Amino acid sequence: MSGEGKKDGPYPVIIQDECKGCGRCIHACPRNVLELSDHINVQGFRTARYTGQGCSGCAICFYNCPEPFAIEVHNPDREVKA
Ligand code: SF4
Ligand code: SF4
Repeated sequence: MSGEGKKDGPYPVIIQDECKGCGRCIHACPRNVLELSDHINVQGFRTARYTGQGCSGCAICFYNCPEPFAIEVHNPDREVKA
């Protein structure tokens, strides 16, 4: 899963099996930090992935994704610690 394991600063997580590879998040990202991967998911789509650095946490990718469960934006600095 893209972004998994990264704990410094905000980062997007693309839920691979929910992504339809439409590319909207890729084109919408102002930081240009998303790209299409070579991974083919269970639905037969190439999926988006995070390049691994540069995310600002703006969540524009999240708001441009037509799939309700395909992308999340995490910001460890803002998440409440239990
Ligand atoms: S949160 Fe913003 S900067 Fe980060 S991947 Fe999404 S659109 Fe790009
Ligand atoms: S906008 Fe959503 S469905 Fe489209 S490529 Fe990005 S994460 Fe996948």
